Amino acid sequence: MNDQTPPEGGPAPEHGALGGAEFDEFVELAADEGFDAEEVEGAIEAASLGPLPVLAIVGRPNVGKSTLVNRVIGRREAVVEDRPGVTRDRVTYEAEWSGRSFKVVDTGGWEQDVLGIDASVAAQAEYAIEAADAVVFVVDATVGATDTDEAVVRLLRKAGKPVVLCANKVDGPSGESDAAALWALGLGEPHPVSALHGRGTGDMLDAVLEVLPTAPRETFGAAPGGPRRVALIGRPNVGKSSLLNKVAKEDRVVVDPLAGTTRDPVDELIELGGRTWKFIDTAGIRKRVHLQQGADYYASLRTAAAVEKAEVAVVLIDASESISIQDQRIVTMAVEAGRALVLAYNKWDTLDEERRHYLEREIETELGQVAWAPRVNVSAHTGRHMEKLVPAIETALEGWETRVPTGRLNAFLGELVASHPHPVRGGKQPRILFGTQAGTRPPRFVLFASGFLEAGYRRFVERRLREEFGFEGTPVHLSVRVREKRGRRK
Ligand code: GDP
Ligand code: GDP
Repeated sequence: MNDQTPPEGGPAPEHGALGGAEFDEFVELAADEGFDAEEVEGAIEAASLGPLPVLAIVGRPNVGKSTLVNRVIGRREAVVEDRPGVTRDRVTYEAEWSGRSFKVVDTGGWEQDVLGIDASVAAQAEYAIEAADAVVFVVDATVGATDTDEAVVRLLRKAGKPVVLCANKVDGPSGESDAAALWALGLGEPHPVSALHGRGTGDMLDAVLEVLPTAPRETFGAAPGGPRRVALIGRPNVGKSSLLNKVAKEDRVVVDPLAGTTRDPVDELIELGGRTWKFIDTAGIRKRVHLQQGADYYASLRTAAAVEKAEVAVVLIDASESISIQDQRIVTMAVEAGRALVLAYNKWDTLDEERRHYLEREIETELGQVAWAPRVNVSAHTGRHMEKLVPAIETALEGWETRVPTGRLNAFLGELVASHPHPVRGGKQPRILFGTQAGTRPPRFVLFASGFLEAGYRRFVERRLREEFGFEGTPVHLSVRVREKRGRRK
């Protein structure tokens, strides 16, 4: 049976990988099983959504960016960190407003004096803006516009992305005039907000949704046959710039202490394995910025921005050192963003027998959750296994785009449920009734069940899906809808 979409058969549709007739048929089938048709449609549509648009929140330190992010995401996840020098790794969050989902990039939490205030604000704003589809520019209305604010305004103008001006710290009506003064920035209407108390944030978010596109600027597969987008990421000193120089067959390393202040081409087309690839943020990789404080945050922001723009992430890991939490976080960033993933273990030339042994054990314990990612053992120095990089990337992209037709999926699910039923809980046995793959890039499944499926069983289903259909190098999303109504019983 060969009814799987051939991966080289051009880009799959972005939304609703489930075709029109197939979709209708499926909804009908679900209705027969006692599912509400609207709910089924909603579940499939939610799972078929492509990548979310990105909203960046930028501004000077202490204007209230993190406080605003907390408001927008509605949880205390982006904790406002009072201790100086403490940096966060997490920079993107998912948010929802008026029924629309989007990602928020928080540029708070970075030490201002690392590069000097103007350069640092510019650098972080630049990365955030680069990855964003719209920007909220936060200004402290009680302070008014400063020179640094003006510098950001120039960046925003140059980038040409939609901007919503947030006049923050307007805690009461008396602050409204402070907000109005910010018309002078020339960015349109200042929205008076108190991020701290929630005043005005709803109106501001309404304004955001008006300018935020429903899908990211560079939608996957926007240019059929165009170069695939690769993010080469990893913590500092794992060898990203060395690897880039090796694959680009040139030895230029740009030294620029003021990272991000120059606007040279950020991405680069590189020929590799007979194909042209777009490597994201090569300029950022090649700039050798050595910072003490804030370096981690700066690197995280850059990594997050690169991942947002990429289809596949190649995470470079220094095999000569123990796998660190930072390595794991970077892998997690790519997985959570739903990108295809390749793990490249670099500096292989330095490994002795003993280190190799321990490395394998570390990979099992520290990166066991991404055992599905293709792996290459490379050396940017000697050029070892460079030729294996492209096949690994292609494998991951193939898995990422794999679409299992609904008929085939349900045959598989039927067999799985018969041979490995869910354990009986409280006298009941929840059963997967049927399912569909609602989307690709990455593969997203919706399963409809007669009762709650335990996490362990979900993991089992994912494992079996991978065994059956491959999905090498890609995260797989499973969402489960439980039948609420007393439908027909079998
Ligand atoms: P960031 O550096 O831009 O991320 O700023 P923070 O979110 O960390 O906020 C800096 C300080 O301003 C914190 O002490 C916040 O509590 C305070 N702050 C943030 N928003 C408001 C607001 O709307 N009103 C007032 N009065 N204070 C605020
Ligand atoms: P980046 O910060 O990730 O861009 O890392 P770099 O490319 O600057 O490399 C950091 C250090 O690791 C440099 O001293 C490189 O010469 C060294 N390095 C990079 N790749 C290899 C490799 O494959 N083998 C060895 N032995 N050293 C490497």
